[in-house]
Amino acid sequence: MYSWGHTRRFNAFSNYSVRHYGQRLQKVAIDAGFSCPNRDGTIGTDGCYYCDNKAFNPSYCMPEKSITQQLSEGTVFLTRRYKKVTQYLAYFQAYTNTYASTEQLIEKYAEALRFPGVVGIVIGTRPDCVSPELLDSILKVTASKLLFIEFGVESCYDETLKKINRGHNFNQVVEALHMTAEKNIHTGIHLIFGLPGETPLMILQQVPKLAKLPFQSLKIHQLQIIKGTLMERLYREQPSLFANFTLVDYIALIVSFLERLPPKILIDRLAGEAPPRYHTQLSLKNRESWAGIRNDRILQLIEKKMQEKDTWQGKLFNSDI
Ligand code: SF4
Repeated sequence: MYSWGHTRRFNAFSNYSVRHYGQRLQKVAIDAGFSCPNRDGTIGTDGCYYCDNKAFNPSYCMPEKSITQQLSEGTVFLTRRYKKVTQYLAYFQAYTNTYASTEQLIEKYAEALRFPGVVGIVIGTRPDCVSPELLDSILKVTASKLLFIEFGVESCYDETLKKINRGHNFNQVVEALHMTAEKNIHTGIHLIFGLPGETPLMILQQVPKLAKLPFQSLKIHQLQIIKGTLMERLYREQPSLFANFTLVDYIALIVSFLERLPPKILIDRLAGEAPPRYHTQLSLKNRESWAGIRNDRILQLIEKKMQEKDTWQGKLFNSDI
């Protein structure tokens, strides 16, 4: 038994939700039809180089449908897969879900919160698209329900953020996290491993920076090069910029990262899975070992590796660094 109260070798968010809320909280993705300042010209027009929201949205998730309709189709779909789940989190996932007028945002969140079985919302957004006033309004509408905010961070290195055209820097991440921490909001961050210019060592060296920040949960996924994105172009033009992990490399890197991470950070995801039709031929050719591997399988392989190494999250964490 580890400090997080179960025998899995990392502090899994799914176990935490069972312990705290009595069962697994199933996320139902929603595309609420919001835009993104890095696409509409406010910050930029090209978007982040890896971005193609279609590749990461489930099929029922379409902005032409109301929030209620998406939740209705999403919960039917998920109930078939996870029979015991009765509590859902409406996951505002696509694009930037705090990027509209406060009235428009609150109306959409409120519609989701009224749906039967929805016990809270998860809002995915950019670190430069929150303010204390907006957070207060969100807290008001969520009231007795659960609220999770997720920031796309992707990397702690400003040079990487520039290379992938994120349109914000790491300092803005730090500010946003302090803003949500002051409001006592459960906050998660996303990271991508394998971004151009980053070596495995650089990825591991992010841990001390992250360990000082006030957030509760973490999602990591491997860089997936999606057809037609600017990342595909960069990959074709400068392949040497990419670490190009095999599955075995990725598992070893994730295990090393988890060993260095503070034990209190909840792990929400350790790999991504865009449908194979979205991947470039190029990336499939160079990433043969990944082809057809599902997230669940990657997770099993990570846990198996941790067992073989007899290691766990935080084993090498050093709070003094
Ligand atoms: S990844 Fe998010 S922030 Fe970046 S362009 Fe796409 S929607 Fe905008």
